[in-house]
Amino acid sequence: MNSEPLYEGKAKSVYRSEQPGELIVRFRDDITAFDGEKKDVLSGKGVFNAAVSAFFFEHLESHGIATHFVRMVDERTMIVRELAMIPLEVIVRNRAAGSIVRRYPFAEGQVFDPPVIVMDFKDDARHDPMINDDIIMALDLLNREEIDAIRKTTLEINRLLSAYFRERGITLVDFKIEFGKVGGAILLGDEISMDSMRLWDRETGESLDKDVYRFDRGDVLSAYGRVVQRIIPGYSGGRG
Ligand code: 5GP
Repeated sequence: MNSEPLYEGKAKSVYRSEQPGELIVRFRDDITAFDGEKKDVLSGKGVFNAAVSAFFFEHLESHGIATHFVRMVDERTMIVRELAMIPLEVIVRNRAAGSIVRRYPFAEGQVFDPPVIVMDFKDDARHDPMINDDIIMALDLLNREEIDAIRKTTLEINRLLSAYFRERGITLVDFKIEFGKVGGAILLGDEISMDSMRLWDRETGESLDKDVYRFDRGDVLSAYGRVVQRIIPGYSGGRG
């Protein structure tokens, strides 16, 4: 990519496209955890995350969920619709793990039925504090109807993704998604990848996600690669 990025996140870079209303998203090989305190470069990670994200965006689109995904350009680069991003991390939890176990008296692995939705306000300087509906409305981020619509879509996304993973022997423990607006519509944006989900092997309980990196539980790339192989039928992409 020759031009300067419009925006550089911890693991993705976003560039202007020649096509108005579209952006170019490049999945880099950087991996970070704990607010960026731990960071590394893992050659090929971006390709795995781009492949899984593109696959799930298309899977969700085919089930009636509007996403920003347009098409892949190469194995780590996708074209997306430009959205005005809503600064919220919408987190769905099917089982207790991670921060919810540290903050509340839940047992690790405890099932949430119905799933628990938590929203964090995206603000690095404030360490993404948890937010509630009243604060979202007071900050003028969304109105009541929009919050309700996002919750409904999020639960549907969880239903579709959980079923897909379950059939392939993986438990979708939790995940984080982000939404944005374009022309009055709210679309799913950002990514759906092993960086933003917790995945446990249904037989062994083994982590197949960024927790492998966070807690030095083994070879992260190999875990990500195994998810790609199990999730994407006939995946033949390589490291690039
Ligand atoms: P937790 O709140 O337990 O740290 O995270 C819950 C879920 O949301 C996990 O699957 C985690 O990977 C994802 N998540 C939470 N915050 C972030 C974030 O800032 N970036 C990414 N990529 N994922 C996040």
